[in-house]
Amino acid sequence: MRISLYGAAGEVTGSTYLVETDRSRVLVDFGLHQGDRDSDDRNRRMPPIDAAKLDAVVVTHGHIDHIGRLPLLNDAGFKGSIFATPATCKLMPIMLEDSANLQENDARRDSVRNARQGKPPVQPLYSPEDVKPIIARLQTIELNKPREVAKGITVRFTESGHILGSASIEMMLQDSTGEERVVVFSGDLGPKNQALIRDFDPPTSEVSPDLIVCETTYGDRDHRDINQTVEEFAGILREALWDKEKVLIPAFAIGRTQSLLYYIGELSRTGRVPAFPTYVDSPMGVKATKLYQEFWRTLDAEAQKLHRECGEALCLDRLNFLETGDQSRQLNEQHGAMVIIAGSGMCNGGRIVHHLRHNLYKRGVRVLIAGYQAQGTLGRRLVDGADRVRIFGEEIVVRAKVHTLGGFSAHAGQTDLLTWMQAFKPKAGKPWPKVMLTHGEDGPRRAFATKLEQMGARPFLPAWGARVEL
Ligand SMILES: [Zn+2]
Ligand SMILES: [Zn+2]
Repeated sequence: MRISLYGAAGEVTGSTYLVETDRSRVLVDFGLHQGDRDSDDRNRRMPPIDAAKLDAVVVTHGHIDHIGRLPLLNDAGFKGSIFATPATCKLMPIMLEDSANLQENDARRDSVRNARQGKPPVQPLYSPEDVKPIIARLQTIELNKPREVAKGITVRFTESGHILGSASIEMMLQDSTGEERVVVFSGDLGPKNQALIRDFDPPTSEVSPDLIVCETTYGDRDHRDINQTVEEFAGILREALWDKEKVLIPAFAIGRTQSLLYYIGELSRTGRVPAFPTYVDSPMGVKATKLYQEFWRTLDAEAQKLHRECGEALCLDRLNFLETGDQSRQLNEQHGAMVIIAGSGMCNGGRIVHHLRHNLYKRGVRVLIAGYQAQGTLGRRLVDGADRVRIFGEEIVVRAKVHTLGGFSAHAGQTDLLTWMQAFKPKAGKPWPKVMLTHGEDGPRRAFATKLEQMGARPFLPAWGARVEL
């Protein structure tokens, strides 16, 4: 039995694991590489996986760096089922359709550029047509309900505390001779006490695993205290609302948007900020937020209580969903205190760019950056304090106040990652199972490896293409 790694090796994106026994082949996640110059090339190079011989795919959660290459399986001859939790099965179409549209837009833009240089057009990585057959293959597995996904491969999902529907996986393997092995995949782990989302629940059972695959995004540090962050958030809101000004918040559609809505609700319910209208100005953000509301039973105890008292888990008065471009444009004409949450999270596309163009030059407006901003994005230039930025070819002077809030995260910090690993600590005298560290850059994963070594484990840091025989 063997596990091979084809992504998220010394990096955060592109998660892909191939699990093989002598009778079955299952893929765990098939994510897009993102954020690097050569990401597109890497996404186009199919790893050595014979899709026609794959029996199934198991998905940890709906983020595009875990599911974004699934549409490629179609043309490659995949005929099996794709298993995920019920909420993830609902999130995946939203995410993949958006990804397909982005791929097409990028290809169109690059083709125009190529045409000017006398070069051939660029084909999109995939199109919305490639997404449909993938969606048709989805099958749900509830948390904590083991299910055989291929001959001799049984999967149990447990809460990973990251985003709606996210799961860790306990995978029981049995080959044709009856030999058994257990592999645990952390998936992406969330921080404890995250808004709306339950804390992770490591998949421990009587059988100790032979291999643990653990993410290490923040293996080298802890996040800033969430309560301090929320307090700071409240202060910024209070000031802006007192001044009757707009607060623009670029946010990822899934996860960050909903946790911000939760905190806004909490702050206004407890009277820490006055009432004001909040707009979710992103078609994807609106769909995702409605899914959080639909799947309120999978959320944490606090959200369930709110749902019972309020009729919905976010319990936010004056929450408005904007779906059409016209509704979005109308906000330009509206004045007074309001919060606008729009995508994209790094201001490199989406409706937030229009809002920034219309508002950055205004002195009273606040821009609140509550997520990671990659090099080269408009969001990063704002964080770095640019006094002028280019938007749609136009130079805009930045007079708005830009605030950066560092403490919101959907990822476990080092302490929480160690707590998750601690659940697998063997009884005295017993050796640690194999531990493979992935989904983190080399700095964080080395730092985390050092911590695990202090606990007695001997983790290894695989490169792309690495294989583990069990
Ligand atoms: Zn994730
Ligand atoms: Zn991830």
